[in-house]
Amino acid sequence: MKKQCSFHLAENLNRLAHWLRIMGYDAAIYRAVSFDVLVTRCQKERRILLTRSSKEASDKRRFQRILIKSTDYRNQLTELGEIIECNNQNLFTRCPKCNHPLIDSPSEKVATLIPAYICEAHKIVQVCRGCGHIYWQGTHFEAIKNTLRSIFP
Ligand SMILES: [Zn+2]
Repeated sequence: MKKQCSFHLAENLNRLAHWLRIMGYDAAIYRAVSFDVLVTRCQKERRILLTRSSKEASDKRRFQRILIKSTDYRNQLTELGEIIECNNQNLFTRCPKCNHPLIDSPSEKVATLIPAYICEAHKIVQVCRGCGHIYWQGTHFEAIKNTLRSIFP
């Protein structure tokens, strides 16, 4: 099994961050911070910087970094194929919007916040303690899984 790494992404890699989070990876994006701050955070938090800037990728300081060449998120995920894996156990464990871990909750507990038919159909839902978003394993989950299967056969 591959080591579970965590990432720091440049702001223009938002879509890639979204997909890494779906796969359960800690993929942070800090907006409006300088490159120096990013480097310090990568060093302190042992994160790998993902960037599309060859200038940033060739910085002389010591930190892990990967230069992302593709513009399409599917190809970007393929570029990371040597260090990430699509593990079913990790899928949907992290909020794609804000990167916080998701917590399983009985749907009854959040019944007032979700449609009644969702509460009926799903005994357990996933709640984000970061942004409050509530997720359930509906049809879009299958679509996401199919997309990931096509990238990580
Ligand atoms: Zn969230």
